[in-house]
Amino acid sequence: MRCLSCHRLSIRTFCKRCQEKLLKPTITTRKVGSLEVYSFFKYQNIEDLLLTKHTPQGYQVYKALANFTFRPFIKSFLAEDSHRVYIIGVDEKVKSGYSHVALLTHALQYKNSKVLHATLMANNSVKYAGKTVRFRLENPRNFSYNGISNIEAILVDDIITTGTTLQEANRILTECGVTVLFALTLADVEV
Ligand SMILES: [Zn+2]
Repeated sequence: MRCLSCHRLSIRTFCKRCQEKLLKPTITTRKVGSLEVYSFFKYQNIEDLLLTKHTPQGYQVYKALANFTFRPFIKSFLAEDSHRVYIIGVDEKVKSGYSHVALLTHALQYKNSKVLHATLMANNSVKYAGKTVRFRLENPRNFSYNGISNIEAILVDDIITTGTTLQEANRILTECGVTVLFALTLADVEV
């Protein structure tokens, strides 16, 4: 097979060279409302890869990206803080084949972390791409949460744009008795 980034022959989804040079994650932090959001990439640096989302390659791409970002993150997080933490993905509704967010949350399942799959679901799936903050606020996701309460959780989404979705998710979870420690996303569009 070939490296999905440089197309040279490679036994991995991304060759060693691309993984070390081009795909080196740099964690950035953003605060949306009271929520701290950590992202591993600037969106424009890996845009081509993220656009595979709705192609047959998307599954391998997201899985590979999750394995060299989310995976080491949770390992070092739990090395410092070993109490039980839950992982909640933003809307793991499956539209075609598999959920991209579920691929990310799956990489966070390690020792004392436990994924609560498909517990935070959006009841409004209107497209936000290219829309203003005002539009997003006027058309909220209307999340519902059916998971357990009185827990500490890490919130997960693939991309952060304006942050309205994560803020809304944080609000609903807080109302449901979930303490959101912070959020993790693969890429930030606005850094
Ligand atoms: Zn490569």
